[in-house]
Amino acid sequence: MTIFEKVLEIYQKYYICTHCLGRMFSLLATETTNYDRGSSILLTITMENHRKYLSSNNNDDKDAILILKLIAENANFSPAKQVLVNEGIDFRVNNTTQKCFLCENIFSNLEPYIFAAKNKVNGIEFNNFLVGSSIKSEIINKEDSFKAEFNLLDAESFKTHFNREVGKQLSLIINKPTEFGNPEMTIIFHLNYNSFQIDLLIKSLFISGRYNKFIRGIPQTHWECRTCRGKGCKACDGTGKQYINSVEELVNPEFLITSNSTDSKFHGAGREDIDVKMLGTGRPFILELKNPKIRSINLNKIQKRVNHKNKKKIRISNLQFSNKDQVKMLKANAESTRKTYRALVRSTQKLDKNNFITLLNQLKIRLENQNIDQRTPIRVSHRRVDKYRQKKIFEIQGFFKKPDLYEFIVDTQGGTYIKELINGDNGRTKPSFTDIFGINLQCEELDVLKIH
Ligand SMILES: [Zn+2]
Ligand SMILES: [Zn+2]
Repeated sequence: MTIFEKVLEIYQKYYICTHCLGRMFSLLATETTNYDRGSSILLTITMENHRKYLSSNNNDDKDAILILKLIAENANFSPAKQVLVNEGIDFRVNNTTQKCFLCENIFSNLEPYIFAAKNKVNGIEFNNFLVGSSIKSEIINKEDSFKAEFNLLDAESFKTHFNREVGKQLSLIINKPTEFGNPEMTIIFHLNYNSFQIDLLIKSLFISGRYNKFIRGIPQTHWECRTCRGKGCKACDGTGKQYINSVEELVNPEFLITSNSTDSKFHGAGREDIDVKMLGTGRPFILELKNPKIRSINLNKIQKRVNHKNKKKIRISNLQFSNKDQVKMLKANAESTRKTYRALVRSTQKLDKNNFITLLNQLKIRLENQNIDQRTPIRVSHRRVDKYRQKKIFEIQGFFKKPDLYEFIVDTQGGTYIKELINGDNGRTKPSFTDIFGINLQCEELDVLKIH
């Protein structure tokens, strides 16, 4: 069966618009639109049958006349109508607007969709976009049975046609390109024949940087109150928080306000304990701003404001625009990154300086450039899987402060639990400073000096 025969078969039964006609043969020929495909088919049929009509004896080719009438009446095709008018052949004039069996004329008038989308994105900053849609099953089922009825194997789906055509026209109106890979704005239509809704999906804005924490007692990210899980209770004074502040909560307000985002997520390259300072050049982090309405934010200005507001508590530096892939890398690298700590250590027994130096040498021989075995510490076992890890210790320096107070600078593989490296965690970390010194050692203060 030729395309032309198939088209005549369709119009004997249904009216479909020119867009949908072309769409049913969309995989055939390229560099054109569905409308042009449909219109070319109808025009060719009209021309061929006009020729047959003119070349027949006494212009009496009944088949040609029937086909011209079919195209004029059932396909509502103007050139065919005009041929019949010119040749003085009567045909039925349809005064009511015909509804396309497949799209109910949605494709002939996309303006309502385009303008609704334009209004919806008004006031939001984005550089490129993509149109997406979820089509009601009513439409899809109708299409499927239609294609099956006429064995149409080269059709394009309703959804693909809609997304592309709306995208093309919207692009011209809002003067922004469409982007398929990773659009900053996705406009999603929920579409039925007589109604539609639009949802927007705005790509998060990622900002990387480093943070310092100059005080003890604040966690990296915000913690819900353990008693009420964030609802607010007596234990937390109605705040819903376990700790009043966190690095995250000191850093993110300026970003949220400036970018007009709905929410944010703080991704750190590992984390230090609440009572541990983060000194030196700081710890890498990426702040994810969700649903930002403004993307072109001035990072220098924000950095200055955050640092001014939080003087002596925290500092952020090295701000740069980042992306989702870098968040994954940040997490993946955190475990292997080398870190340098300063630990202030208290002993239960007093040592003299010579004793300390002898034991320090033992410590260096046993630990430097060697692995330790560390089982998940008891103090974090309620929120971390219980497992054994091997961690490498690179270098240890020790300083005698008082007979029962020493300072250590420890250079280790990321993810090592330093407090447990010192106290041994009841044999869960082996070997430990406590093992090697043969006396009970406890870490009193811990600072991160450097994340390499
Ligand atoms: Zn249609
Ligand atoms: Zn609470």
